[in-house]
Amino acid sequence: MTTDTSLPIPAFSFIKLDKSGKPGLVAQRCTACGAAYADSERVACGKCGARADKLETFTPSLEGTLHSAVIVKRGFPGVDVPFISAVVDLDGGPTVKGTLRNTGFEPENIAQGIRVKVCFDDALGRKDKQGNSFIAHYFEPISA
Ligand SMILES: [Zn+2]
Repeated sequence: MTTDTSLPIPAFSFIKLDKSGKPGLVAQRCTACGAAYADSERVACGKCGARADKLETFTPSLEGTLHSAVIVKRGFPGVDVPFISAVVDLDGGPTVKGTLRNTGFEPENIAQGIRVKVCFDDALGRKDKQGNSFIAHYFEPISA
């Protein structure tokens, strides 16, 4: 048994690392109604109520369209502001919330409908008690 302590810990349940440590997303889709969730352990569909046996796991696209964005100017102590909290409709679903970066703060650069990609990066230098780092998802504009 070996434990590779150099691998970061996913900061969200919908981030999974493959055997080489490469991060990706995992999601579930309801086969009864088509609803998609950024989750891998749902017990029922929130839209139609179908049970877990109707939910299939899939690997979502790492590209999507910006649904909404909010410039956050006040945060918890230790959280650098401003940052952009965004909601992105991934191509084929699901919808995922996260931080949008590398856009600047001009309204035209964070307008609804811009194309973005998911990238993975260290979660702002945070560590657990054992000193392990976390990995989180971010959104960046595709055209930048
Ligand atoms: Zn459903």
